[in-house]
Amino acid sequence: MVFAQAADFIRSHSRFLLTSHVNPDGDAIGAVMGLQWALSKLGKEGVIILDGKPPEVFNFLEGYSRVRSLASAGSTELFSTAIFADSPTVERVGAASGLLAPGAAILNLDHHISNENFGQVNLTPFEMSSSAEVVYRLIMELGLAPDRACAEYLYTGIIIDTGRFRFSNTAPETLRVAADLVAAGARPDKISEALYERNTYQTTRALGKFIDSVEMHYNGKVAVGGFDHGFIMSDFYKQVETEGFVNHALAIKGVEVAGFLREVEPGKTRGSLRSRSSFDVNELASAFGGGGHAKAAGCTIMAPLAQAREKLLAEIGKRLE
Ligand code: 5GP
Ligand code: MN
Repeated sequence: MVFAQAADFIRSHSRFLLTSHVNPDGDAIGAVMGLQWALSKLGKEGVIILDGKPPEVFNFLEGYSRVRSLASAGSTELFSTAIFADSPTVERVGAASGLLAPGAAILNLDHHISNENFGQVNLTPFEMSSSAEVVYRLIMELGLAPDRACAEYLYTGIIIDTGRFRFSNTAPETLRVAADLVAAGARPDKISEALYERNTYQTTRALGKFIDSVEMHYNGKVAVGGFDHGFIMSDFYKQVETEGFVNHALAIKGVEVAGFLREVEPGKTRGSLRSRSSFDVNELASAFGGGGHAKAAGCTIMAPLAQAREKLLAEIGKRLE
């Protein structure tokens, strides 16, 4: 039903801003690129503009230079129609929301449980693994068949959000969609190598540093590590990609909740949170104004690293039985 509404939304407009959350990840990128592909097949125009630099790791995707940051897009006219992908709130798209004309129509396409239904049409099936999976279903609804390039965009989004089909959001339907994408030309070996076997030396060293920083709390149920502002400001860190680091803390036997803290500005610490049990890190993140999913969430804690760690541990302690 809502897929049909979303398809109607697309059919009834011709030019779209395609945007996603700040610090775009592979699902954000895959979803907006898949949407842009679909719009071009329908003879429509989708302009991708994100708040944040498109990560280099996705540069193997065909046409990746069409993914622009606000900074590289320069001044553009305002859009009266937009599709927000993978963003649970309007705020999460950051300054890209400044590209909307007053009263702009928004299609809100997402899979976060914390989604605030801010769109004119809200396509937010929480049971889906990723926004890329939602885009695939929408493409089916529009009667299109993905080519290899489109299949690679969507496959990338799915494997990023399912942790390569390991997380609990990997449903039978997710694997069916992935199978369709492989049949359409996405190569699992090629994509996996491009995403996971091109780490910089600095990333590998930084992973070691993160693992070394991990401390155990609450009888080994909680593992938290992090980077201080000094390290984050170093030249070395410019070559570091921290995606996936937190999972190494979660992989310790007995750990139910893991955190990776980065003091991104003096007194401002970003947290990546993961759970392996019924502990809900989305709810935990909300204590700091963040959110995400029950098993993967993020937040910003207004404190330097050491104090942020204490605050986080205090909130975790309140929620552990
Ligand atoms: P990550 O730890 O990989 O940055 O984020 C994990 C999940 O939490 C992602 O789905 C991401 O979209 C969500 N997330 C991360 N930070 C925030 C935040 O500050 N607010 C909200 N609402 N979601 C977040
Ligand atoms: Mn996602």
